[in-house]
Amino acid sequence: MAALRSPLLTTVAAQRSRKPLVRRRSPDRSQRIRHIVQWAFLALNGWIGLQFFVWVRYFERGGEGLYVPRPAGVEGWLPIAGLMNTKYLLLTGRVPMIHPAAMYLFLGFMLMSILLKKAFCSWLCPVGTLSEGFWKLGRKLFRGNLALPKWLDLPLRGLKYVLLALFVALIGYMSAEALHGFMQTPYGLVVDVEMMNFFREMGLTAAIVIAALAVMSMLVQNFWCRYLCPYGALLGLASLVSPVKIRRDEEACIDCGKCAHACPAQLPVDQLVQIRSVECSSCMACVAACPAQDALQFALPPRKAPISAARWYRRSIGPVATAAVLAYIFFGVILLARATNHWQTNIPRSVYMQLVPHANELSHPGM
Ligand code: SF4
Ligand code: SF4
Repeated sequence: MAALRSPLLTTVAAQRSRKPLVRRRSPDRSQRIRHIVQWAFLALNGWIGLQFFVWVRYFERGGEGLYVPRPAGVEGWLPIAGLMNTKYLLLTGRVPMIHPAAMYLFLGFMLMSILLKKAFCSWLCPVGTLSEGFWKLGRKLFRGNLALPKWLDLPLRGLKYVLLALFVALIGYMSAEALHGFMQTPYGLVVDVEMMNFFREMGLTAAIVIAALAVMSMLVQNFWCRYLCPYGALLGLASLVSPVKIRRDEEACIDCGKCAHACPAQLPVDQLVQIRSVECSSCMACVAACPAQDALQFALPPRKAPISAARWYRRSIGPVATAAVLAYIFFGVILLARATNHWQTNIPRSVYMQLVPHANELSHPGM
């Protein structure tokens, strides 16, 4: 049976505590800051989507109407192109000409995971933001979310790795010439338009699948991210080497269990001294829920010191610092790509004029 995760359980957990509580000196701002960053990034994606739509419509109308430049940021929605282009770069040492922004953004998001665990997922990813909105809505409507039993949860969590392995295997077999050739095909050139058309002209089956995912996301916390997202799976693997982790100080902790209850990834935060799990998305919900001073932090390994304040002195990475590092990496990769003239896909307008109106008729080169 699936269990219901309800806020009422925190009071039970709090009763477990026997150690004296040293209350936090300052209130937690992590969730407010994270939500601001999440919604700002969602709005940025909305803006990019709108600009891209206007750009597509210009070509669909045969060059009539408003023309806006193609926003290269749309390639952030092409993680497979990012992976393919990264392999091309590794094999040849050359930055690919088609969809280079996909590669820069992909590498930027990987770097975020290497430094700050899967912070991309809970701080930036628009799908993660919507997914969080869905489970919070579900929690309000149904007074809790479902936690699937372990026998079902574990194999389901493996699904995203199966999908990831499939993509990695397919790309792993491709030579530099094959990767270059794929990107140069009509399909490869306007794969971003095809992606937009998928959402614009969605068939009944796709609409049913998306509606089912939305319902499941209301019932189960982060359903898509936890079970199905291959991008999150890859970032999770990269996050294993992150030096910054959620870390619990056993002496300062009062064993109230609030952190574990707050964790949307259902991790036993209250029983571990550090969270290595690939499921941890650096959301800091556990830190926000913790009532004890210095008991739980998103931090580098602690110093050797007899008191907790000294152990965590300048080791903790707060929400402002996390947001700043994410912003540095995000804008840093864009600046680097722009400075080296590798941000835009440079295809003549005449080619787009031929391909964009017929994007739906183009078939995948492997089919
Ligand atoms: S352990 Fe903390 S930071 Fe990691 S997913 Fe759970 S609540 Fe978020
Ligand atoms: S680390 Fe977890 S169990 Fe310990 S005091 Fe904080 S919320 Fe309670």
